Amino acid sequence: MKRVYLDHSATTPLDPRVRDAMMPHFNDHFGNPSSVHSYGREARAILEESRDRIARFIGARSDEMFFTSGGTEADNHALLGVARAARRKGKDHIITSSIEHHAVLHAAERLREDGFEILHVPSDHNGWVDPADVRRAIKPNTCLISIMHANNEVGTINSLAEISVAAKERGIVFHSDTVQTIGKIKVDVNRLGIDLLAISAHKFYGPKGIGAIYIRRGTAVEPLLHGGSQESNRRAGTENAPLAVGFAKAAELCDELMEEEAGRFWRLREILRQRLQNEFKGIIINGHPTEVLPNILSASFDSSITPLDGEALIMGMDLEGVAVTSGSACTSGSLEPSHVLRAMGRDEKTAKATVRFSLGRWTTEEEVEYAAEALHKVVSRMERVMPS
Ligand code: PLP
Repeated sequence: MKRVYLDHSATTPLDPRVRDAMMPHFNDHFGNPSSVHSYGREARAILEESRDRIARFIGARSDEMFFTSGGTEADNHALLGVARAARRKGKDHIITSSIEHHAVLHAAERLREDGFEILHVPSDHNGWVDPADVRRAIKPNTCLISIMHANNEVGTINSLAEISVAAKERGIVFHSDTVQTIGKIKVDVNRLGIDLLAISAHKFYGPKGIGAIYIRRGTAVEPLLHGGSQESNRRAGTENAPLAVGFAKAAELCDELMEEEAGRFWRLREILRQRLQNEFKGIIINGHPTEVLPNILSASFDSSITPLDGEALIMGMDLEGVAVTSGSACTSGSLEPSHVLRAMGRDEKTAKATVRFSLGRWTTEEEVEYAAEALHKVVSRMERVMPS
């Protein structure tokens, strides 16, 4: 059976060029980068070279980049680390949004249990956070604002530069979860005015198990992990130099290919969007019409027009060989409606009946057409069994 992978926002395949760049280092540079002998020094050299290349990719300095296990750890480090450092100064109010990834939302929940006050700024019906709402939410004891760059379910891009101005004016640390934007659109920490950000290599054709946190010089952040003095005492644990090489190679490829890929994604996204909008009854395209990532297209079936079972929809697509997701979290075997779509005002059934297509480096027009055909088959099969 033909298989089509359209779930690149969940993870991407490893680019063969990334694999080739990493492979020799697993054998040749297995040393511990903290060891003083030649094996250690060799591993240290490739680790630092990789750090330097990743830092340049986002306009940062290499002494502001710290390797982590991925995006989740970087987000947790940002929230817990800033909050714990700020509490010493009596600041305990945190602003975030209702459409964040769970890596931020659940870290914030943990802080609430520790006595912090957490305020969730709402999103509009496009999944966009209004910077004016963030500004209004600031209090004298606000220590951190954490707003994601682009949402992973609907692709809407937030206006970080405006939010960062509001944060700077009041001396508040500004963190952004940039896991979905790095490698897709240009991210520059200075242009956007970000103090901390989270990166994950497996979202842009790099290896799983490595990411990074950017921490602007002078930002007070407590470490999350305690142990050795690796990563300038910010993140204990032996670094993985071969993965760092893959991470840097993946970043370098994105730097080279981003513009051309974005153009291709827009074209394919437009083909898919038009087909969905023209050929399906009750379809709603989720996300901002223009301020949106080129590689994500999320569509819901309006429950008042085309009532569909969300779980069966995704399973049906899988049976047709098309890997997509609903944007809903699967908890103990049952689909929970997405908190993002609910925050955008979708009712529970509509939120569940959602398909997120996310395109990637090797997605072809033929695959996009195949996915649209598959959706036709699945929906018409379901309509036959669903009570009208
Ligand atoms: N933040 C966002 C917006 C994401 O989409 C993801 C992954 O889906 C993460 C954080 C977590 O990243 P990782 O899988 O590297 O832990």
